[in-house]
Amino acid sequence: MEYESHFPVEEIEKRPPNMWRYREALPIEDDRFIISMLEGFTPLIEEEICRRKVLIKQDYLFPTGSYKDRGASALISYAKEHSIESVVEDSSGNAGCSISAYSARAGISCEIFVPERTSAGKLGQISAYGAKLRLIRGSREDTARSVFKSACERFYASHTYNPVFLHGTKTFSFEICEQLGWKSPDSIVLPVGNGTLLLGASIGFQEMKSAGIISNVPKIIAVQSENCSPLVQAFNRRLAWPVPVAAKPTVAEGIAIERPVRGSQILEAVRDSDGRFISVSEVEIIEARSEMARRGHFLEPTAAATIAGLKKYIVSSDPDECIISVFTGHGLKTG
Ligand SMILES: *Cc1c(COP(=O)(O)O)cnc(C)c1O
Repeated sequence: MEYESHFPVEEIEKRPPNMWRYREALPIEDDRFIISMLEGFTPLIEEEICRRKVLIKQDYLFPTGSYKDRGASALISYAKEHSIESVVEDSSGNAGCSISAYSARAGISCEIFVPERTSAGKLGQISAYGAKLRLIRGSREDTARSVFKSACERFYASHTYNPVFLHGTKTFSFEICEQLGWKSPDSIVLPVGNGTLLLGASIGFQEMKSAGIISNVPKIIAVQSENCSPLVQAFNRRLAWPVPVAAKPTVAEGIAIERPVRGSQILEAVRDSDGRFISVSEVEIIEARSEMARRGHFLEPTAAATIAGLKKYIVSSDPDECIISVFTGHGLKTG
């Protein structure tokens, strides 16, 4: 989706602290259709990890408990502007929570397809927003296959296919640059399954560079679970497409994506940024989760996977590198 973003910096700094302060960079024409809960502009907190100071964006502090609200606020506003009355979406959980919440707020009816093994907390959340829940037997891929028939008949509010979702998640990068004094970090450590945060972040930094706000884009360090790592394997073998894998179970349910829809785009974004991929084991994820909880940050396992990757990255990084990572999802979702 071609879209030219503008950043009137002085105006932006006077606006309320939420993702819609980057109004001229969001593809909604008429303000009346914006569906928002004043989400975003999440705090960037300093943490000492492996004896290094790093900054972590607290994106678990969104209305539904994950960064997916960035994408949902943009996408459901877009649907509202186009007079959509009913949407369908498939998800491993959190995207379904976000699309349900913003649909509820917009008065749009909503049906969500999820794998039947999805965490009970996420299922309860989706139903509470009034969405119709469809539990699908089998893997995340089986869920993706079963949504297609419904998606032919209704607006497919897909976080993986619809580019407007990425125009929402790109605000993650805008906020980081603004919080650093309109500068870019040296590297960002992000989770990747379907890449809805990673690709949005990459677009966000590119747009700020094109607009002359920052001069460099950061290296993107992408983290996957060892038990489901089609992109790590492709990167290591220098392939342009994800390697088809049969996933083993992982506690990082949010990034357990066997066939990432935009796999080649993700590989390209990471390579172009001079970044790399890291995989983490189940033990490393569980350890990172309890380590963060002991500091007061209660994360869902998928979010802890990123921090496990961050720990591995720090060990190999330059001592003066400005590294940023993220807490993507709240621990209360999974218990
Ligand atoms: C969606 C999600 C991710 C990233 O998943 P992608 O498939 O790459 O979009 C990471 N953490 C949490 C908590 C999520 O909900």
